[in-house]
Amino acid sequence: MNQPISILGAGLIGSLLGVYLKKRGLDVHIYDKRSDWRSQQVLSEGRSINMAISYRGWKALQKAGLKEKVEAHTIPMYGRRIHDEHGVTYFQPYGKNDEAIYSVSRNILNQVLLDEAEKEGVQLHFEHKVDHVDVSKNSIDFSLKDGQTKTCKSEVVFGADGAFSSLRTAMQKQMRLNFRQEYISHGYKELTIPATEDGAFAMDPNALHIWPRGNFMLIALPNQDKSFTCTLFMPFEDEKISFDKIRDEQDVVTFFQTYFNDAYQLMPSLTADFCQNQTSALVNIECYPWTVNHCTLIGDAAHAIVPFYGQGMNSGFEDCFILDGLIEKYGTFSWDLVFEKFQKMRKPDTDAICKLAMDNFKEMRDKVSDPRFLIRKKIEAKLHELFPYDWVPLYSMVTFTDIKYSDAYAIGKVQEAVLDKVMSDPFIAQKWENLDYHAILDNVETSRAV
Ligand SMILES: Cc1cc2nc3c(=O)[nH]c(=O)nc-3n(C[C@H](O)[C@H](O)[C@H](O)COP(=O)(O)OP(=O)(O)OC[C@H]3O[C@@H](n4cnc5c(N)ncnc54)[C@H](O)[C@@H]3O)c2cc1C
Repeated sequence: MNQPISILGAGLIGSLLGVYLKKRGLDVHIYDKRSDWRSQQVLSEGRSINMAISYRGWKALQKAGLKEKVEAHTIPMYGRRIHDEHGVTYFQPYGKNDEAIYSVSRNILNQVLLDEAEKEGVQLHFEHKVDHVDVSKNSIDFSLKDGQTKTCKSEVVFGADGAFSSLRTAMQKQMRLNFRQEYISHGYKELTIPATEDGAFAMDPNALHIWPRGNFMLIALPNQDKSFTCTLFMPFEDEKISFDKIRDEQDVVTFFQTYFNDAYQLMPSLTADFCQNQTSALVNIECYPWTVNHCTLIGDAAHAIVPFYGQGMNSGFEDCFILDGLIEKYGTFSWDLVFEKFQKMRKPDTDAICKLAMDNFKEMRDKVSDPRFLIRKKIEAKLHELFPYDWVPLYSMVTFTDIKYSDAYAIGKVQEAVLDKVMSDPFIAQKWENLDYHAILDNVETSRAV
């Protein structure tokens, strides 16, 4: 009889993968070092770090039969609401009318996925910390809460244990694995805008709010309890404005009054939140190969990216979708083939989304408030409206389609060059509505042919 399948990590990717594999009739076990956080009533709390689900994530959830269950916990955001330094706001739609990204609490999403995995028959093992994996034998050493240790052998081991994966660490010691890790200069801190006294949202709930301020920015996503989770992204140190310059409560107040005054008015617990909540780092991790023998990395363990395209989880869910398609095609007796195809197929795409995420960071913090950037967005929207199949903006390709990330990246570069040329006209602000849009599209066709 076959040995069980082990998934290391009960996070978002490990739990969705568990559902997929169980549906293929496998004996699936998920291990996590944490205790079972589902008992902590996160569903009723409703407030926690939240994230945006977009098309790729939905597609993967739908194939696992989970779309409706997750949808019930989400709020659609149809565009960015930009807040300038004077408190004036304006709305930039993400796509066409009904196109949205969906805000969801990370805890609730994880809980829905884990409950479903358990219901399908996946065995969940909490308080199992992976200490070591012998990749030549698919053998995993765990340490348990009570100080005991345990060793399990598996048919296959999936490392879904996040950016600091224990499986990847073991692979690095036992094979020739290339690895690149880069902390960016910016960190982030979670803050809160609560519901108003009469229990309403304090701002438009159907938008992702952004306060872009050059080298730093604040964003806010809505929660179902009518609060917003805000995230402040800022350099850790060595800049005129950075986390290390905010030393006490008065600094927090002065900083927020100066740069985010409209948000400040809505944040009664700001100083306490700021001082209590930790400042976390942001890391990019690339590695290759992802697979050896019957062990493979997936999700952040294989490709951790900065969060500025909202694609880390979405790309991890897409990993599960693609892997499941390969299992469907080649069966569960051909793991070598499945894993080889998986990493070859997927790596160029995760490399592309990694680059796009960094590029989008620059766009969110610097450009979204630039009037020329807004004209550029309007020209793109018009091109998309006139030629819906021939010009799809890069953001839409990444967020509202399943075009391979690497193809989206390449097409995006061509479109960027064409738009750079259009925008070089000094009178573009006056002319943009009456441009020869067919000629612009012809330029794309010509560039692609070259
Ligand atoms: C501020 C921020 C905002 C984000 N927003 C978005 C967004 O809007 N949209 C989006 O798509 N993505 C977003 N992301 C990215 C997203 O959070 C990650 O891509 C996603 O959580 C990766 O899931 P994962 O299951 O691979 O890893 P993780 O979520 O890190 O889960 C790993 C699991 O493995 C367990 N584990 C780790 N080590 C061990 C060990 N040694 N033994 C046993 N268990 C172990 C951990 O306890 C954890 O449960 C955001 C990230 C950040 C930081």
